[in-house]
Amino acid sequence: MPKPQITSFAFPSRKEGMPLGPSAVAGVLVEANAGWRTFRPVINGEKCTRCQRCWLLCPDGVIERGEPYFQIDYNFCKGCGLCAYECPVKAITMVKEGDSNG
Ligand code: SF4
Ligand code: SF4
Repeated sequence: MPKPQITSFAFPSRKEGMPLGPSAVAGVLVEANAGWRTFRPVINGEKCTRCQRCWLLCPDGVIERGEPYFQIDYNFCKGCGLCAYECPVKAITMVKEGDSNG
């Protein structure tokens, strides 16, 4: 299945205005790409407000809206850090691969 193309996008002012899905549906990537990741994003469930921004903006669509909080598929997360940069409450920390604090 080809990755959906975004033709235009304006970030909604309210959570209710969010589109129904992220830029790419989780699971469309056919090859694990985590091998060259240097840092991995770790979500702090205590801080996360479930605003869905990371889920919406992850370029590879590897963040799932789960319970008790959002989950990242580390087999496909490339470690770009965009989710951590965009999280409005800084609930995502980029942790160096091999470090145990994440
Ligand atoms: S952007 Fe941050 S606060 Fe929003 S859902 Fe993701 S981790 Fe939670
Ligand atoms: S680091 Fe990049 S690829 Fe990984 S979950 Fe965050 S935005 Fe997606």
